[in-house]
Amino acid sequence: MTAINIAQLIQQYPQLKQLIELQETCWFNPNITPLKDALPYVGLSAQDIQDASNRLARFAPYLAEVFPETAANHGIIESDVVEIPAMKSRLESHYQQPITGNLRLKKDSHLPISGSIKARGGIYEVLSHAEQLAITAGLLSKTDDYRKLASTRFREFFAQYSIAVGSTGNLGMSIGIMSAKLGFSVSVHMSADARQWKKDTLRKHGVNVVEYQQDYGVAVEQGRQEAANDPHCFFIDDENSQTLFLGYAVAGERLKRQFAQQGIKVDEDHPLFVYLPCGVGGGPGGVAFGLKMAFGDHVHCIFAEPTHSPCMLLGVHTGLHDQISVQDLGIDNLTAADGLAVGRASGFVGRAMERLIDGYYTLSDERMYRHLGDMSELEGILLEPSALAGIIGPIQVLNNAEYRQRCALDESKMANATHLVWATGGGMVPKSEMASYLAKAKQENTQQPS
Ligand SMILES: *Cc1c(COP(=O)(O)O)cnc(C)c1O
Repeated sequence: MTAINIAQLIQQYPQLKQLIELQETCWFNPNITPLKDALPYVGLSAQDIQDASNRLARFAPYLAEVFPETAANHGIIESDVVEIPAMKSRLESHYQQPITGNLRLKKDSHLPISGSIKARGGIYEVLSHAEQLAITAGLLSKTDDYRKLASTRFREFFAQYSIAVGSTGNLGMSIGIMSAKLGFSVSVHMSADARQWKKDTLRKHGVNVVEYQQDYGVAVEQGRQEAANDPHCFFIDDENSQTLFLGYAVAGERLKRQFAQQGIKVDEDHPLFVYLPCGVGGGPGGVAFGLKMAFGDHVHCIFAEPTHSPCMLLGVHTGLHDQISVQDLGIDNLTAADGLAVGRASGFVGRAMERLIDGYYTLSDERMYRHLGDMSELEGILLEPSALAGIIGPIQVLNNAEYRQRCALDESKMANATHLVWATGGGMVPKSEMASYLAKAKQENTQQPS
């Protein structure tokens, strides 16, 4: 890798100064293109998403049996979309900005099994791997009733294999819990910022938790190493996995069905804006891909990152993708937003999706806490800080006339818009931990407004 000349880079991309100074900033990408022109760069198709969806359907009876909390939805892991009118009023008054159209929340925070968006991609990749092993061994065929996977015979079969992953917490939770349930021996390599309760929960499920004093990048590298030395060990690569990405992408068709049931229109005159918290990029990137395939160019995806970890904005804006980290700019990658503390973006996701993501913004941890408190007080919805990253998305869009004009999003369309904030985690946060989040939120709300 050639050394990066930071001074030159800043000259070329002046907005990097704001990133370095940890100021909140927003960038709408002038290089977005229609889906049909962007699709070849993704390298995946509607058929790939359909395959993932079919695989999840095959596993649904098994999931309903081994995770009773999924039985009500017949083993399909999906979350609700809810209106948040009181929160909308609060945002409008706080930012002195009317939000035209309607504001809704996608509660991936409350997905069963692991309480975060990682219950999509993480669980899907473990299931894919298990299916492939069992089919190759002649134990399973795609037309079987997958409830047989819950038997001792299968658990003993999977026990010969191991799975490793590096994680800041939530991915480890999904992969750890799912792998252990199937019978795999599983190691989760956790970065320093991972919460104690997540480590405790995993250990209770029989997962081998390996702790590091360094950040996410190091934890991932160690997981990769462990797997490289053991042919029976499968490494789940959060930075590059297309399988994870496709697990997330299934969200698109599911949301389309939910919107149809709720009577929410998405078309030329009814744009949909989706605000997605971004860490390494697989979750928001995969969801965005699924949304684009479901709604075409009528959906506009915007990524949100902490001011201390703006890796995707940095990678896409400079075109350097995974060749640059926030640490290269002297940014510390320290944030309270679990899942978002990532210094180097996925090269795969950045390159695959850069033409399809309308914009990126950063926000402070303090702002996430403030709105975490609002969400609890006004809507009775408890979220972890990262899940609030998307909440100011509508303000960013409505404050940026240049972007709206460029995309032909005039006032009459904006009046019909749906703004969907993707709440990515919080459903499994213990009471005591949530109490400390709420105390921080209270502190933010009694300090001067920002
Ligand atoms: C992982 C995670 C994200 C972001 O997903 P990436 O694939 O890392 O970009 C957002 N919110 C929460 C709560 C997460 O755990």
